[in-house]
Amino acid sequence: MNIQSALMTFLENNLFLKNGTCPICGKVLFITKNFLCSSCEEDLPFITGPTCKTCGRQVYEKKQRPCKPCGVGRFPFAGGYTWLSYQKSAMALVYAIKFKNRPHLGIWTGNHIGQALTQVSWIWEIDLIIPIPLHPSRLEERGYNQSEKIATGLLEGLSQNVKPNQNMPELKPQCLRRSRDTPHQVGQGRDERLNNLIGAFSAEYLEAIQGKIILLVDDVLTTGATLAEASATLLEAGARKVYIVTVCAVPE
Ligand SMILES: [Zn+2]
Ligand SMILES: [Zn+2]
Repeated sequence: MNIQSALMTFLENNLFLKNGTCPICGKVLFITKNFLCSSCEEDLPFITGPTCKTCGRQVYEKKQRPCKPCGVGRFPFAGGYTWLSYQKSAMALVYAIKFKNRPHLGIWTGNHIGQALTQVSWIWEIDLIIPIPLHPSRLEERGYNQSEKIATGLLEGLSQNVKPNQNMPELKPQCLRRSRDTPHQVGQGRDERLNNLIGAFSAEYLEAIQGKIILLVDDVLTTGATLAEASATLLEAGARKVYIVTVCAVPE
């Protein structure tokens, strides 16, 4: 180790700065615009292999094909993208955004997703970006909606990369409302989850949705039930197509 890197390590380990600690390894972050330490950022589990065209989840085969849940579920998504593979580090990142009062980490993550999305063929078709809403009681408890923070960063990431001939989407969280609080869905089967969610969302400002292509943003894709119900609500309200994006997705 040379003197410079020894000094950096010393400072990194001994100075407390505004970004707190790395949500993945817990190391204190030294003067940086980043929200992860450099080695955790380098090691993020980006998806490299084939993914499901409908929801974006990784599929373990050589070629692109629908994942099992999409195969049986006939999900109403026009397409999907997920940023990270469902590994420990990705889960730690999402956990910190959701439960550790780290809204800025959500924006940072969204910004990276927005930059990655510029490589996706359908991204410039999108008219509106809508985060999956939280029920007001849960929003009050958490203080912010993590999906809205991710969506805010995502828009920022896109706007930093948009070309003059491309259509910049608008962020419209007000167009979707959680009308009913739903119980935590851990341990429920897919059908049970879908049934529990019926009527969980309502579309608002219907004229803003008519004929629009929408990108729904959520933190994690598990069965896809939440995103499917939100998409169905928007499509019934007059949206033309709904795409989805998540930070990470449980593999099939
Ligand atoms: Zn780290
Ligand atoms: Zn799928």
